[in-house]
Amino acid sequence: MKDKPYLKKYNLAEPDLGELEKEYLIKAYDSGWISSLGEFVDSFESSFADFTNCEFAVSVSNGTVALHLSLIALGIGSGDEVIVPSLTFVATAASVLHSGATPVFIDSGSKTYNIDVDLIEKAITDKTKAIIAVHLYGQPSNMKEINKIAKKYNLNVIEDAAEAHGAKYHGVPVGSMSDLATFSFYGNKILTTGEGGMITTNNIDLYQKLRFFRDHAMSKEKRYYHTEIGYNYRMTNLQAAIGYGQLSRFDEIIGKKYKIQKIYDDKLSKLSKYIEPMRKIENVLDVPWLVCCVLRPKFSVKRDELLLKLSQLGIDNRPFFIPLHTQPPYKRFKFFSKNPDYSYCESLSSRGFNLPSTNMLDEKDVEYICAKVFDLISS
Ligand SMILES: *Cc1c(COP(=O)(O)O)cnc(C)c1O
Repeated sequence: MKDKPYLKKYNLAEPDLGELEKEYLIKAYDSGWISSLGEFVDSFESSFADFTNCEFAVSVSNGTVALHLSLIALGIGSGDEVIVPSLTFVATAASVLHSGATPVFIDSGSKTYNIDVDLIEKAITDKTKAIIAVHLYGQPSNMKEINKIAKKYNLNVIEDAAEAHGAKYHGVPVGSMSDLATFSFYGNKILTTGEGGMITTNNIDLYQKLRFFRDHAMSKEKRYYHTEIGYNYRMTNLQAAIGYGQLSRFDEIIGKKYKIQKIYDDKLSKLSKYIEPMRKIENVLDVPWLVCCVLRPKFSVKRDELLLKLSQLGIDNRPFFIPLHTQPPYKRFKFFSKNPDYSYCESLSSRGFNLPSTNMLDEKDVEYICAKVFDLISS
């Protein structure tokens, strides 16, 4: 394998924007409807509802407020506890605090990136109101068990599907297996609108609450009259135009991702002395948001140096998320039982990293990246 004669920057993630998005964006612009009313907001919402097999979809400004608005619509606030995985992007837990409730962190389990369903029941108290199931790095959580526990204890479930557009669990799209599910369209996500988010639901009452609180909680009967404290969490028609184009191109976008992931799988399988194969969960369709690698425990000490050297070669990368129960503003919330155990997510976090996953990569790029990974960890 020949090295490239020049150094190219291989990006972790980039928007995959097509001509269709541009056409819709210009159409929105030319219509003058550039704020949060307009045909693309409606089209994007209804096509996103279809995409997730849900009755309703509500567009919002980003994935973080999608979570916050969901908690508000469920009536969750001060004095309540919400169960969340510790290994996730910070917004999952920050939104719980924004609502006034307290996050209760759980380890990852069953050799997946996601919440350990065997630990959830131990964390439930009489204050617990909801579980947020995150489909981390595109890998669906064990929704069957989560919903079973939620039913037993009368809890709400929110799916944080920010990283998992199009993933399926037992043939069912993520976003349709809970009371409310949230998506992000940040620039590095599978579908993007620059900044943006969506909430999906099959519950008409929650749907109406989401729309009410998204738009300043203004009374329908009497304009500028408010019975609750609301928010301005709307998406603009310009963002929705891009989103509608992105969603129309979903098969093309995800097709490229699967192709790239497959090349990585082939190449990385030869590094199985160093990199663990992830447990393949039966009946689950992962979406390759970011290419994930987890070093075997005895090579974990090499992780940070490996990432630094890859960066110096122009190969973008990132370490796995840092468990939230270890971080300054969240540390104080970890003790849900006498002996909380976070050993698996701490281990995953110290060994895991993501390699360039942008759709702009071709086979040669992936070969080059994997060859460099091999050189660096085997030396
Ligand atoms: C990106 C992300 C969010 C937040 O979405 P933003 O649109 O960036 O606000 C929430 N949860 C997870 C798991 C994410 O990856």
